Amino acid sequence: MEYAEHVMDLVGNTPLVRLNSLTEGLKPLVLAKVEYLNPGGSVKDRIALRMIEAAEASGELKPGGTIVEPTSGNTGVGLALVAQRKGYRCVFVCPDKVSEDKRNVLKAYGAEVVVCPTAVAPEHPDSYYNVSDRLVTEIPGAWKPNQYANPQNPESHYHSTGPELWKQTDGRITHFVAGVGTGGTISGTGRYLKDASGGKVKVIGADPHGSVYSGGTGRPYLVEGVGEDFWPTTYDRTVCDQIIEVSDADSFDITRRLAREEGLLVGGSCGMAAAAALKLAEGLTEDDVVVVLLPDSGRGYLSKVFNDSWMASYGFLTADHSSASVGDVL
Ligand code: PMP
Repeated sequence: MEYAEHVMDLVGNTPLVRLNSLTEGLKPLVLAKVEYLNPGGSVKDRIALRMIEAAEASGELKPGGTIVEPTSGNTGVGLALVAQRKGYRCVFVCPDKVSEDKRNVLKAYGAEVVVCPTAVAPEHPDSYYNVSDRLVTEIPGAWKPNQYANPQNPESHYHSTGPELWKQTDGRITHFVAGVGTGGTISGTGRYLKDASGGKVKVIGADPHGSVYSGGTGRPYLVEGVGEDFWPTTYDRTVCDQIIEVSDADSFDITRRLAREEGLLVGGSCGMAAAAALKLAEGLTEDDVVVVLLPDSGRGYLSKVFNDSWMASYGFLTADHSSASVGDVL
């Protein structure tokens, strides 16, 4: 019999798949690391597991403790599924702009969700940041993973994503491309690949137009989970060789093409990373092997990127990319 003891043991070891239609006319082999195949549906399962196990080892998280984190999405799911196995309570704090569907996903895993008003300043006592800090002091045995400052976030990628890619490509990877949010993925995976290759692998960050990593001021953009308006300590500025800035329009165009042409129903940050990988590949040769990491599934974005009215309302939809069939009245 072949089975895992718990769903938590299925985190990591995600497959690589070649991009075909999207890479037509390009010379290098372009491979996608499909992170939605993690049990919680995203790359964040990896950091959840390692942050929790490190906090147990250091004594910060004790048996029967409570995990408190401001998160509305993927990190919460990862934390909740590991917490279930290990008997911890989870309290997640989200702003009220987060959709009810997303909050319900966290509740479905058994987490408690505290909703805060979006329309208050960060220093207001009811703000998302202040409420989570207050809960940590008020709940006995509470521990806050803080994915933006926890060194176990990049470490998890140094010990899992990086070695997996090196092994899966038989050491032939030449370029690694990933979106940058907390910076954990790019810093940990990139550092491992540089160490393993003696500095040969090039590491390329993809960033939404407007975010600080590509020189912006934090100006709003629509792609979710990537880009920042501050520099988190989990981002190691010495790892990236290049940052490629991607517009929302290009991110969403490629996201929709990944579903329609490659059978990969993935989120908007995946389209952003893939758009950067394709741009990079234009200047590369047949000897190059590019790997792009796709962080999550498209299921959480059906009413946005995959909704024609939402896309049209931002002026993104062009006739070529609409999902309407022949005869539909637009
Ligand atoms: N895409 C999505 C959907 C995410 O949730 C995140 C995490 N914020 C990222 C990309 C970026 O990953 P990282 O935080 O490791 O930089």
